[in-house]
Formats: sequence, C-alpha cells, structure tokens
Amino acid sequence: MRLFSNLFALSPSLLLWTLTTLVNASSITPLQPAPQLPFQVSHQLPRDDDASTWLSRARDVIIQTIWRIPSDHATSNINCKGSKKTRPPSTLVARYGGDLVLRFDINSIEEAKALAEAINVLFLDVWEFTTEWVDIRLSKDVVPSLLGLLPSSLQNAHTPLMHDLAQAIFESYPSLTFVDPTPPAQEASRPFSPDLRPSRDETNIFFREYQPLSVIAPWMRLLQSLFPTHVRIVNIGMSYEGRDIPAFRIGVHPTNDDKPSEPRKTIVVAGGSHAREWISTSSVNYVAYSFITAYGKDRAITKLIEKFDWIFIPTLNPDGYIYTWENDRLWRKNRQQTSLRFCKGVDLDRSYSFEWDSDSTKSNPCSESFAGDDPFEGVEARRFANWARNETENNNAKIVGFLDFHSYSQQVLYPYSFSCTSSPPSLENLEELAIGLAKAIRVTNGEIYGVTSACEGSVAVSHARDCRSKSEKTKDEKSLWPRMETGGGSALDWFYHELKVSYAYQIKLRDTGSYGFLLPSKNIVPTGREAFRLVQYFGEYLLGDKGIEKSEPGVNEAAEISKPEQVEEKVEEEWVMVDEEVEEDGEEQDDTANFELRRRRRR
Ligand SMILES: [Zn+2]
Repeated sequence: MRLFSNLFALSPSLLLWTLTTLVNASSITPLQPAPQLPFQVSHQLPRDDDASTWLSRARDVIIQTIWRIPSDHATSNINCKGSKKTRPPSTLVARYGGDLVLRFDINSIEEAKALAEAINVLFLDVWEFTTEWVDIRLSKDVVPSLLGLLPSSLQNAHTPLMHDLAQAIFESYPSLTFVDPTPPAQEASRPFSPDLRPSRDETNIFFREYQPLSVIAPWMRLLQSLFPTHVRIVNIGMSYEGRDIPAFRIGVHPTNDDKPSEPRKTIVVAGGSHAREWISTSSVNYVAYSFITAYGKDRAITKLIEKFDWIFIPTLNPDGYIYTWENDRLWRKNRQQTSLRFCKGVDLDRSYSFEWDSDSTKSNPCSESFAGDDPFEGVEARRFANWARNETENNNAKIVGFLDFHSYSQQVLYPYSFSCTSSPPSLENLEELAIGLAKAIRVTNGEIYGVTSACEGSVAVSHARDCRSKSEKTKDEKSLWPRMETGGGSALDWFYHELKVSYAYQIKLRDTGSYGFLLPSKNIVPTGREAFRLVQYFGEYLLGDKGIEKSEPGVNEAAEISKPEQVEEKVEEEWVMVDEEVEEDGEEQDDTANFELRRRRRR
C-alpha cells in the first residue's frame, strides 16, 4: 500500500526508474497482457512488436494495478446501505446535524412565485430545481419561517430528501480517518481533515472514492508522464487563491508542419465549476482517463483523438473544491473576497459576461448564486474565458464543442440559460444532438436523462413538460414564471454565443435527488461510464456529416443542415456499439467489415 502513496508523489526521474525497473523485470518474467477495460469495445489495433511494446505493456500494468477501473457488478449499485462506514464524527454532526433538504413539488404560478420570493427573503440554499420540483437545504429552525411565507397548497407539498444530512456528508468522503475533534488552535476553523491513506482494497482505488485535488494533480502528472505521445497538462489559469487550474490536453499532431495547418478543432470538457458537485470532477477524470488509455487500442477513441484536441478540466474551481474537502462539504462558489467580509465567494456559473444578470443577487454576496458586482468578477470564470479566447485567437485552435458537467438532476441542457424568450439560432441541431446524448447514456446504464433548454431547467414551470413546441404562446407563458434563481452569466451561454461554439451543453449528472450533491462514491464509475459514452457520442456526432465537418456552420447557419433521417443512422450505430461491448466476452471483433455486418444484420 505504501507503493500507492508514493506513486502519487513520483517525480519524473523516479517514474522513469519505476518504468525501467518494470521493463527490466518483464524481460525475466513476461508480464501478462493487461485486462481489457470495461469500456473498451472490440476494435483492437494491431500490436507493435518493436521496443515500445514493452514500455506500453509496463505502462498498462502500472495503470491497471494502481487505478484499475472497477467491474460493473461491484459498482452499479446506487444504494449506500451496508456501507462499511460508521457514524459521522461529532464535528460533522454539530455543523450539519441541524440541517435538512426539502423537496417542494410545484404545480402553479402562485406556488413558484411564493417559493422564489421566500428563498430570496430567507437566503436559502437552493440545491437543484427542475420543471417539477425544487430542493432546498435549510436549517430545521428555519422551516416554520419558510412555511409561513408559502401558500397553504405548499404546506404539505414537501418531503425531506435525506433523513441524516451529516451521515450522508460523512459517507461522501473516502474511507478516511477524521482527526481529533479538538485541533490545534491555529486550525480551529477546520472541523476535520481527511486522511488520504488508501483503502485496504488494493484495486480500483482512484475511481472507487472521490479524490482531493492533492491526489488529482499528481495523478494527472503521472498520466502525462506515462502517455507522452498524446497527453499534456496545460494550465487554464490561476485561481483567486493562487492555484493552477490544471487540464489535460489530449491529442496528436502531424509531425510535418512545413505548411501552416488549419486551426485545430478542439473540444472542451469541464467540471467542478460548483465546488460541491464532486461527481462532475470525478466524471471528467474518468472520461479523460478512458480516452488516454484507449488511445491506440480502441479504434473509435483513437480516431476521436486524432481528429480533435480534447481539453479535460476536472476542477474549474480548485479553491472551492479544496474548501469542500477541508471545511464545508456543501460549499458551491469560489473563494474570493466580496464586499461583505463574512460572505465569500462568487458563483462562477453566473459570472460570464453574456447576459450577465445581477438583479436578484447583486446586493447579496451571501447568496449562493452571487454573480459578483461586475461581469467576470469571478476570477476562475474570467481566467477560463481568457484562456479560451487566447486558444482561439493566438493558439491556432477552434473550439467546436463545449461540455460543462454539473450535478444533479440528470439533464442534458442546451442554450440559452439566461432566458426562455430567446431561442438559439441553431436550436434544431442543439436539440437533435442533445437527444442523442441522452440516448447514449440510456443505452449505457439505463439511466434516464431529460433533455431541455437550460432556461427551462432553471425555471419552475409546471407546463414545461408539454411546451417543447416553442410556440409564441408557450414563450409568453414561460416568461411569466418566476425563476428560482437567475440563469444569466452562464458558461454555457458564453461559449455558445460569445465564442461561437456551435455545440455547447451543460450536463447535470446523477442523481435525481436521493443523495443530491452527496452522491455515494459507488456511483463514480457508473456515472463516469455514462459521461464517457456521452462524450464519445458527442465527438462522433461532430465528426459526422451532420455536424461541423460538413460545412463549418456558424451559429446562424447551423440550423440549416439538420437532416432527421440521418439521426436514425447514428442512433442505430450507437446501439450496436453498446451491444458489442456487452457481447464482447470471448469474441474477437477487430475489423470494420465485421462491425458493418453486425450493424446491417440488426436492421
Ligand atoms: Zn452546478
């Protein structure tokens, strides 16, 4: 187990030594081929017989041994009952024991309006909301005050989501030891610290638990060292507290660049904008890891890496993420100082300049959705936008896709977020791909993800389920509904509208409210698999003739090229891909002709 701990701190020279040792050892006792990863489909590329084979195999062994992805049967259970963990420490109980999360079912304009007003008056923490419900975290002491502001129809239209919030928080951390509850004086503000010793089970470590940034960052560096042909770490910028915002850049470039090459098509996948949404960070890591290790082994992923540069950013908000690990598990914003000394933090997903909206939060830095006093006051949002612009203007990149992972509520959301009264120019294409993304998830794990405009996802609208027609009447109706919180200033809208990224989505991952942000770690792998399939489908769609490859449409042109009959073709292929994975045991399926045959046979 000590090996595991040490590997996180490997320097490049030590890593080289480790690799050399393994390669040398392998010449005495040949290493067994690495077991196939669960996500790998059947298209194995021919193996090299040159000297790099040993390095590749040694690398596989390291990866498989240290960070092997768990098997399905061990990880697909969402239920956390039976956990080895026991009761939370008194520090957690003292901090969160008096809180609960209530779900209100919304059925009328009056109810939505009253609830939105009460939320603003009482500065309540809105966890999540859909077209049907609103989840609010609050102190038990505040419940009477809240109910006193609500109409009688809502008095009994609420249910508690978790019966023991402190326990759920405790169980969201890795198997760790909480330090003595009476810390040294200088650390009195820190209620606990995680012990990062690995679990006793020597396999599946990295994706078996959520990981702190102190583990993620060296893990990223190690992957860069192990896969130098297609992996680099880039820094998106510096956070408010002075930390790097690290990202993987995964791609391969032509070695012969005598002539100026076209801008490199780039797809950006981000997570962790909201600190407490840990599943977004783990899912970005899972997808990045899957891409990295599938390169050269899986034909479909290899093609995607050859055709695009992929940017994976696991923690857009590193200060906030660390704060959730060391201080407050439920922290959402970044950690910058505001005009109010005791209310730190700007909501990064309200900070972007496009349709920035401070109306409901400008005077209240204590709000969980505080947009700052000016557009791009949120440091990490500004750095991310500057990085993206610089890539586009100075680094020969063209960002063609943006996926912003959040949680929870299981939804695929497309622009615009700021308003339902403005439809994006390429609405038809956005909806088409969104439906495909949701289906890619459904055929992976059977999980249902809703598809809707981000504006509808952020407004309590009981009619929204049947208002997809976008008729003027519907728009007028929707404009009357009160928002639970502002939808302006989102990264989604900024990338779509300002940076002209034709395909931009916000993906809200698991679950639908059983645990919310405190999703048990057993969900990391199944959710990661969903995210992986979604990202793969996204890339393959952009490669197809419906997407950018055909005409490089701008935002205004994109709506012109939708061809519904081609959607079925795409969906058909996706189904077969997944079926192959299920059937892959004992089968050798390594040629395109076989794949094509199977595809036709199913029709
Ligand atoms: Zn979020």
